[in-house]
Amino acid sequence: MNVADDKAIVKDYFNSTGFDRWKRIYGNGEVNKVQLDIRYGHQQTVDTVIGWLKADGNLPELSICDAGCGVGSLSIPLAEAGAKVYGSDISEKMVEEAKDRAQQTLGNGENLTFAVQDLETLSGSYHTVICLDVLIHYPQEKADEMISHLCSMAQSRIILSFAPKTCALSLLKKIGSFFPGASKATRAYLHREADVVKILESRGFHVQRQSMTKTRFYFSRLLEASLK
Ligand code: SAH
Repeated sequence: MNVADDKAIVKDYFNSTGFDRWKRIYGNGEVNKVQLDIRYGHQQTVDTVIGWLKADGNLPELSICDAGCGVGSLSIPLAEAGAKVYGSDISEKMVEEAKDRAQQTLGNGENLTFAVQDLETLSGSYHTVICLDVLIHYPQEKADEMISHLCSMAQSRIILSFAPKTCALSLLKKIGSFFPGASKATRAYLHREADVVKILESRGFHVQRQSMTKTRFYFSRLLEASLK
């Protein structure tokens, strides 16, 4: 299967069964135990990013690009905290949901914009570019291109998360308990941290802060890298 297929499949998935599944996981209604575990795990990743940015104390001065923003789980609280946020996603459905949620929490906040866009066609320049839990849908080679492109839009910093390729996780994936359940996902790709760091460094970005979220069914390595 080639990479173009991967992207088309991911897009279709997040406009259909994936949309139904993830909007529930990224919500607060009733879900099954596995989904609840993933919800908590993902929330930890989001909270870690928000914690880092709030600790810096300059959110209202920042322009932030949230690439692959999903239903706005990160974009909305960042905008609430005063940042100027541009969230985009390849799935119209996810963006529609993000807009609805933003409307409910923020009203017509002027510092938050959502658009439907493949992250590789994004342009512009932002203080911080963030891309959470998106790379899992792409093989390393594609992820490299995506990370490079995201780096090209970042004036100062990039924040990424990915499912780390560790022995335990590879095994879990093999036995099929990764993304379990009836409406299970598209393929999940794991990434070696060294490969991700290598591409960041080749673009001049150096890792500053890092974190790992690990629950039973959710694994996400989070890196913040800045230009020197
Ligand atoms: N970053 C969000 C959503 C993670 S789910 C969060 O952490 O809450 C992954 C999202 O990536 C989905 O909404 C999916 O539609 C989006 N996505 C996948 N490939 C993409 C691409 N090439 N460009 C933009 N968004 C993409």
